[in-house]
Amino acid sequence: MAVLKVDKLSKSFGGINAVSDVSLSVEKGEIIGLIGPNGAGKTTFFNLLTGIYTPTSGDIFYDLNKTVATKDLKPHKIIHFGIARTFQNIRLFQKMSVIDNVLIGFHHGLKYGVASALFRLPSYYKSEKNTYEDALQLLAKFDLLDKKDELSKNLSYGDQRRLEIARALAAKPKLLLLDEPAAGMNPKETKELKELIKWIRECFDLTVIVIEHDMSLVMEVCERIFVFDYGTLIASGVPEEIQRNERVIKAYLGEEE
Ligand code: ATP
Repeated sequence: MAVLKVDKLSKSFGGINAVSDVSLSVEKGEIIGLIGPNGAGKTTFFNLLTGIYTPTSGDIFYDLNKTVATKDLKPHKIIHFGIARTFQNIRLFQKMSVIDNVLIGFHHGLKYGVASALFRLPSYYKSEKNTYEDALQLLAKFDLLDKKDELSKNLSYGDQRRLEIARALAAKPKLLLLDEPAAGMNPKETKELKELIKWIRECFDLTVIVIEHDMSLVMEVCERIFVFDYGTLIASGVPEEIQRNERVIKAYLGEEE
């Protein structure tokens, strides 16, 4: 079952075709890699998927907890549609504690209304208590429980990246978009991240799309890979196919030159 379909999607900025006529689909439960040289259009593609940019042309359809089409994709709404993302540059609330960062992730799912919050009705306390317990559980799963009261800015880079993923998962998404999660990680952290991505897919019953430059991560973790170059989708397939693909090799060699 396809959870995401993209049809002839394009986005241009002035004369630059950042994403050009891209069509693809993603099946439920897949871990997809999105790769390509610098400036290939990968982040622009995520920004289109999450409503940050409006397409110049083409369509996006999600079939997660309800059908969503391009016109409904607004950044502040995507979380309600079951889509969560992390960013290339970590976006945590640096001066807030680890647990508070995760609690914010749960925020959209809270069940009490304004009156309950204002007058501190029982439903408010029940919901807050459940949320706090859920946040503790999530931190335990990410091995961050003993750091729950630390300011997020004091965590190691790897821990900050994992906290950002934990916060995204607090919103209970069906589709998780990870933008360069291994960026800045040391080899040990990258190795752990590979296991973490596979584990969260199983544990949270997710579909995952990951943009990544670390080829060992992409080849070991992703079941299917899409390759962008100059905004176009130049190849798609399983890792072995992509590694042998002449066009892909050329795109990357061109980058090195
Ligand atoms: P990287 O791997 O370096 O992060 P990328 O594949 O994510 O690159 P994008 O950031 O999507 O590439 O950029 C694709 C192209 O679109 C680049 O030429 C970039 O300069 C251009 N671009 C992206 N966003 C904008 C914008 N807001 N305004 C103008 N041009 C943009």
